[in-house]
Amino acid sequence: MSRDLLKAPLLGPFLGWRHARTVLQVVMLAVAVLVMVDGFWGPQLAPKNMAGVLPWVHWRGFVALALLVAGNLFCMACPFMLPRRLAKKLFRGERHWPRLLRTKWLALLLLLVFLWAYEAYDLWSSPFLTAWLALAYFAAAFVIDGFFRGAAFCKHVCPIGQFHFVNSLASPTEVAIRSPEVCAACRTRDCIVGRYEKPRGLDTGTTALRPRERGKLLQSGCELWLYQETKAGNMDCTFCLECVHACPHDNVGILTRPPASELWEDPQRAGVGRFSRRPDLAALALFLTSAAFINALGMVTPVYALEEWIGRALGTTSEPLVLGTLFLTGTVALPGLLAAGAAKTSAVLSKSGRSVIQEATRYAYALVPVGFGMWIAHYLFHFLIGGLTIIPLTQEYLGFLGFSFAGTPAWALGPLVPEAWLLPLELLFLELGFLVSVAVAYRIGLREVGPGARAAKAAAPWGLLAFLLSLAGIWLLLQPMEMRGTFMGG
Ligand code: SF4
Ligand code: SF4
Repeated sequence: MSRDLLKAPLLGPFLGWRHARTVLQVVMLAVAVLVMVDGFWGPQLAPKNMAGVLPWVHWRGFVALALLVAGNLFCMACPFMLPRRLAKKLFRGERHWPRLLRTKWLALLLLLVFLWAYEAYDLWSSPFLTAWLALAYFAAAFVIDGFFRGAAFCKHVCPIGQFHFVNSLASPTEVAIRSPEVCAACRTRDCIVGRYEKPRGLDTGTTALRPRERGKLLQSGCELWLYQETKAGNMDCTFCLECVHACPHDNVGILTRPPASELWEDPQRAGVGRFSRRPDLAALALFLTSAAFINALGMVTPVYALEEWIGRALGTTSEPLVLGTLFLTGTVALPGLLAAGAAKTSAVLSKSGRSVIQEATRYAYALVPVGFGMWIAHYLFHFLIGGLTIIPLTQEYLGFLGFSFAGTPAWALGPLVPEAWLLPLELLFLELGFLVSVAVAYRIGLREVGPGARAAKAAAPWGLLAFLLSLAGIWLLLQPMEMRGTFMGG
């Protein structure tokens, strides 16, 4: 039986409040401004700078936890949406996003560049570059959404958003309708069209009016083109709750569901289509899964020997080039080959008769939980080891502003839990992810080839791949990892 968070005490009334999102965004904007000011003009030693700590230690830790226990809360509170809203007011943004780019390929490429740049230019240790990155993000959201219709930046460009979309497939909540009957009888569909000044409804034919002719927009509908009646799951949903406020029948809620269940379901999803017909989405899921491991590899000691070896093989000492090779191999070539091998074996064993691409596009989502487990293990490590650094940082900042009551910064503060807890906790999340991946692979097998041994045979190669990834994860977690953002490793 699913519960509706919008009906929960305290939380429900707050989230249902029309300005809740703006309040959250303004808070996050204040934090972003703090990060940028300190990044540009503060001390350039990462553990002593808001830009060296808040985005890389705290924000990533909170993101992982929020996705695990709730949903895509960080898109909900995203500060980049405020300049975007301003751009919409100033420039209207009525151009259509190019048809060719209505996939996830561009976002996947940007994610690859972002993760590579993070290591190649040590973004985590450069408050100055981190501040520039945040500024570039604000500018990109402003320009793109000032130019194009809807939430083109969120849906097709934002690398962080894609991370949230894919990992929130395993989250325990989704924005969804409360009653299908109410939607079936609905004549206005404000949840997608938006609410306008002029009286209208499908029965009056006025929804055919162009937006300009409908008068003032009172409340936006879904700018990510997710029509509630046929929306399924969290892909592309920013939890902006515009649909909640737009629906005149109070028929949209934030409903609980079995975590990860949408990974094995394949309905026709509004604004997304079927997962099994979206090779770009499957590639994004596969990329983010492998990136979880490659990103962690960048922080363990053996990576230096590997980088040296790649450098020798290429005859170069250029770190960006070496890391580019490592990232392309680890997140594109190797996962592509392994997924193709699993897809071929799965097709042969289950006699599905499908091509490698068709098979991989159906089963790649099974790997999302083990990748998510690795992201959580990694980000939680940094958060739990450096969570309390926020205290001396705040003291330092207040001192800088002339508030002497804050006292001398206690730089020794850092860990939130005893160090001995870290490894068991990390392993717990990784192995939970692995077990869920196996279960999802089997459920996809049931869906694709029916019950019995054929489903198990179809799922086995993907289960094996998840097992190999979990072994790689265990090895990574057992290595000494840099304690970035703290004085223990910064
Ligand atoms: S969610 Fe609300 S506005 Fe949208 S179709 Fe259903 S009842 Fe209509
Ligand atoms: S309006 Fe669209 S993106 Fe926003 S919460 Fe509703 S379905 Fe999700």
